[in-house]
Amino acid sequence: MDLDVKAAPQEQATVEPSPTTLVEILKRPDIAERFAMVRRYFCLRESTYDMTRRCGIRCDGCYYYEGDKQNSQDNVDPEAWRRLLAAEKARGITFVVLAGAEPALVPQLLEACYTEIPLGAIATNGLVLIPKHVGYRIHISVWGDDRTSERVRRAKRMLERQIETYAGDPRAVFVYTFTRENIAESHGVIEQLAKHGCLVTFNVFSATVGYQGALTHTPATLAETRDTMLELLAAYPEQVLFSPYNAAAHTDTLSLHALYSCPYPRQNQGQFGLGRTFRQYRSDLTWIREAACCVPDTDCADCRHYAAGSAIVTARMNRHITSADQFRAWLDYVDTYLAVWVQGYSKHPNLCKVPVSPSLALQAKAGR
Ligand code: SF4
Ligand code: SF4
Repeated sequence: MDLDVKAAPQEQATVEPSPTTLVEILKRPDIAERFAMVRRYFCLRESTYDMTRRCGIRCDGCYYYEGDKQNSQDNVDPEAWRRLLAAEKARGITFVVLAGAEPALVPQLLEACYTEIPLGAIATNGLVLIPKHVGYRIHISVWGDDRTSERVRRAKRMLERQIETYAGDPRAVFVYTFTRENIAESHGVIEQLAKHGCLVTFNVFSATVGYQGALTHTPATLAETRDTMLELLAAYPEQVLFSPYNAAAHTDTLSLHALYSCPYPRQNQGQFGLGRTFRQYRSDLTWIREAACCVPDTDCADCRHYAAGSAIVTARMNRHITSADQFRAWLDYVDTYLAVWVQGYSKHPNLCKVPVSPSLALQAKAGR
């Protein structure tokens, strides 16, 4: 989610003249106004933190319980976490993503983090209320209706309990993850969330390395997911934080990495942008550069995760300076990202109403 839109020095040196320029594109008043709005956030610098290895449920395909990070010994000392976040602030981190397993189980650690870096988001299953004075954005994971969640996440009345806990909470954004199996039922789930005034955004299931389960998408279910996302965006414009370009980028047959080149250290050991600043801390406060990304142990060839896209797509501004509409689409993506992740930022109407192809960004790279 690092809005590192400045190209790496190496990239700048090799850029050929593009069909159009940012200066020309910014002559359109709608684009200039939105660009001025979002560029105030270009200074965000993100890292992520696994707050605990504990979780009250076990979901099929969970990326946390894959790989060796799940074996870390939890550091449960709030003062140690406060010191870590103070050090993070000192090295320039301004935005934190607190995840895990289940961060709501360690509220005293969340409070300690909040005292040092008050901008960020918490990823939770939404079954336990996080204290109101922890003012981060709160992302509540939804994987289908209650029948599906009972089967896939082994938790009863999940959506009902999530709504009971977080409806009306200005911090809350419900994140519906589209899997191969739950596309049709999303209509009923979003209707239920909208009825309770809840904000929603969309995620696409991204398999962990070696995952063999039934949730992985096929080209056909990706296309169906895209159509469904667009229908839901049109049906619930007040509740759904998304854009046509988000739908296109996250349901392409190519992964986000294949389309845009992932800038996280796991794929980019360079000394610029996220490759230099991003760290993914485990619950014992250690981190490993080679494994660091916002969804570690996810298969990069299947990565369409909303959190990953928030960094991968936003970082590629230069590849969208190909036409006014392509740039509008990128601005819609950034506007969506800010509305989903930054407490207090509200979504604006999308500028580009049609889902322009993300492969145009790929061609822009190839042409350079
Ligand atoms: S709630 Fe989150 S951390 Fe817990 S098992 Fe499910 S996906 Fe994993
Ligand atoms: S899983 Fe996604 S975010 Fe992580 S390194 Fe691979 S492409 Fe990047």
